[in-house]
Amino acid sequence: KPRIGVLAVQGDVREHLRALASADVEAVPVRRPQEVARIDGLVLPGGESTTIDKLLRIFELQEPIRARIAAGMPVYGSCAGMILLADEVLDGQPGQQTLGGMDITVRRNAFGRQMDSFETDLVMPSLADGAHTPVHAVFIRAPWVERAGDGVQVLATVPTGPAQGRVVACREGALLATSFHPEVTDDYRVHHYFAAMVRDAVRVS
Ligand code: GLN
Repeated sequence: KPRIGVLAVQGDVREHLRALASADVEAVPVRRPQEVARIDGLVLPGGESTTIDKLLRIFELQEPIRARIAAGMPVYGSCAGMILLADEVLDGQPGQQTLGGMDITVRRNAFGRQMDSFETDLVMPSLADGAHTPVHAVFIRAPWVERAGDGVQVLATVPTGPAQGRVVACREGALLATSFHPEVTDDYRVHHYFAAMVRDAVRVS
């Protein structure tokens, strides 16, 4: 079975471990640099991107994870995790760093006060049955993708309302990002999609 880590320095780690467990993979928390070497894929959970960034540097995880991203390891970032995967952040805190790797610019807390937290149904044709069964997406002080490079595949946009058309799920190569939190629902198709990305990467390596 492929082994998928969940970065466990801050954020909703347990929910991701549970979601991954339903995808027939070994799911393990990752806190130490040595553990980064022993995984086939990594999930960056939601939480607070500024805090996670600081802890990544304090725990000396930033460099090993960046190296594995550069070497093609699949990584899925949700919400704060999307921010961590972005090459550029708008409305970040002074000095905030990311792991980077994805050619996107994200805006932190982009939906504003009126839409601080909200839920909506998204069509994600890339997922199993995704053209027919929408994903119930939970947004919590979420970022959106303000710019996506040519190599980035848009997987979902907001269907209606003031944020209509905003990109909230995307993929570039082995990197996957969502603005929302599938791990807090019982629909784990995004995790299953990511597990398939990890299986593909293990097969060719
Ligand atoms: N607003 C948070 C940040 O900037 C992200 C919120 C979340 O992950 N639910 O990191």
